[in-house]
Amino acid sequence: MRVAALLLLLAVVLVLSLAPLHEHALLAALVSGGLVALGLLLQQGWRLRRLQQWLRAPKTTPAPLVQGPWGDLAYRIERLLDGHRRKLDAERQQLSEFLSAIEASPNGVLLLDAQEQIAWLNTPAAEHFELHPQRDLRQRITNLVRQPAFVSYLQAGLFAQPLALQQRDGRHLSITVRPYGKGARLLLSQDVSDRERAEAMRRDFVANASHEIRTPLAALGGFVESLRSLPLSPSERDHVLALMQQQAKRMEALVDDLLTLARLEGGARPPTDHWFSLDELVDRVRAEAQALSAGRHRLHWPPSSGLELAGIESELHSALTNLLSNAIRYTPDGGQIELLIKTQTDGATLLAVRDSGPGIAPEHLPRLTERFYRVEASRSRESGGTGLGLAIVKHIAQRHGAELRIESAPGDGSLFGLIWPALRTRDGGAAQALGEESAPARWASA
Ligand code: ADP
Repeated sequence: MRVAALLLLLAVVLVLSLAPLHEHALLAALVSGGLVALGLLLQQGWRLRRLQQWLRAPKTTPAPLVQGPWGDLAYRIERLLDGHRRKLDAERQQLSEFLSAIEASPNGVLLLDAQEQIAWLNTPAAEHFELHPQRDLRQRITNLVRQPAFVSYLQAGLFAQPLALQQRDGRHLSITVRPYGKGARLLLSQDVSDRERAEAMRRDFVANASHEIRTPLAALGGFVESLRSLPLSPSERDHVLALMQQQAKRMEALVDDLLTLARLEGGARPPTDHWFSLDELVDRVRAEAQALSAGRHRLHWPPSSGLELAGIESELHSALTNLLSNAIRYTPDGGQIELLIKTQTDGATLLAVRDSGPGIAPEHLPRLTERFYRVEASRSRESGGTGLGLAIVKHIAQRHGAELRIESAPGDGSLFGLIWPALRTRDGGAAQALGEESAPARWASA
């Protein structure tokens, strides 16, 4: 538009200059034409200057509102810059999400440059290697993590197998290194203490189980040898056979308990909607306990509770039988044994076996549920114990979300109780008052 006006003006000036006019009029026309052209030039120059200033300034201010081609140019540049800025923001956001994801990983991630200096690390890596996430950046890792096994692993450069490293605080780490880029390395660290502990427990368990099986097996071998090589009278022979049967039973009990544990470990989670009658279960364990005690103890039973419990009935049966069998086996003849059933205020049910036996010293209490842990090994074995009973009970309790409570003191008897969760307890309709009425007064206060 402005260019057209300028051309028009120039054309007028040209026509005027060609026309036979007075010289002054021609000069005036030329001067005014020149002034207009100069004005237009100055205007364009000013616009260009504003555009330049905006381009030099940080790109947070919007483009100057100039008209004409400079304005158009400014608008296009601004759009281009906006596009770049948006792309950069998206990439920044992506990077920050990526770093947050690595940060959230339980595994340590640490980047080393070609000089083995720490370029970046996440918090788990800082914890694993006891490093400071900021202060130790750009430090040579071997100056900070000085365990010889780690230093030589890094220097050998053979990373096909991960490095197992034990930290000063006893934690076990598994470290994997992957080279990348130009001499850089990615270090991944994982705290495998739990795995190591489980592995150590598994090794102990296998060793203990083998030992437990080998003992009766060796005894059986000895008896077989006696039968073959010694001239035994019929009564001596019967005696040896009875001892052999005892050892065979011991092995059988052990294998049964091992299989029960294996089944519990691999079994599906007990259902919360399969209900069974507690009274019927108590009737069954009562008959078994009476047979095992054979009149040697005074047994007390709870009144009918009318409760229904949810879970796997055979497992609760096994847990109660184990607790009652322990009470019977460890309580001297003439002692008292009681099965208690009490509903708690929170709706959970306490199922407990209390005995007037020898009781257990406090130092043993935390370890009683460990596999093969016995306070007195000989006493346990003599009475047919496998050392796995309470481990089985604890497992069953855990699977049902129940708690195993043990209260005992030497000379004061013992109480082994399961607190069956409220979620798995309901009134079967025929509930009667629950409590300790059936127990003698001395027992209620114990
Ligand atoms: P065991 O087959 O040896 O009885 P358990 O796991 O059932 O194995 O019990 C572990 C140990 O706890 C027993 O060896 C015994 O020393 C102790 N114990 C368990 N129940 C009682 C109890 N009612 N009175 C005294 N000691 C008990």
